[in-house]
Amino acid sequence: MSTNPIDQDLSRWYQSRRVRPTAAQDRAARLAIEWSRTMGLRLPPYRLEFVRREYPDDARGHCFHFRRPVAVYVLADLTPEQVVETVLHELQHVADSGDAEMPPDEREERAEAFTLRALAALAEHQARWAAFEARAGLR
Ligand SMILES: [Zn+2]
Repeated sequence: MSTNPIDQDLSRWYQSRRVRPTAAQDRAARLAIEWSRTMGLRLPPYRLEFVRREYPDDARGHCFHFRRPVAVYVLADLTPEQVVETVLHELQHVADSGDAEMPPDEREERAEAFTLRALAALAEHQARWAAFEARAGLR
């Protein structure tokens, strides 16, 4: 658990904003989690929760790297597609959370690169699956 008082307050504020995701958002988050594992991310213990937006340019996701378990919050007004993208991004932060020395810029670059890589691979996987279904007469 972080001992930084500002981090503690911010974390408590996020906790107070927790809401239940829609079924579609929950499925999207689970898909992103499964896909990140397929993509080889190794995730330490973490929890992921949805929170209500507080202001217009609120970040889509937030990761408390130094908390144990690592805490990830995702805005509850995102579309399922945005949830997939945001969760993939935050999970790279979770995977990197063990490296306390990593500079913030590098964390962001790694999260953005992983998201792009994972989304491209997911699109290819879905296209192959659709082609397979069509060949097999499943659709
Ligand atoms: Zn980030």
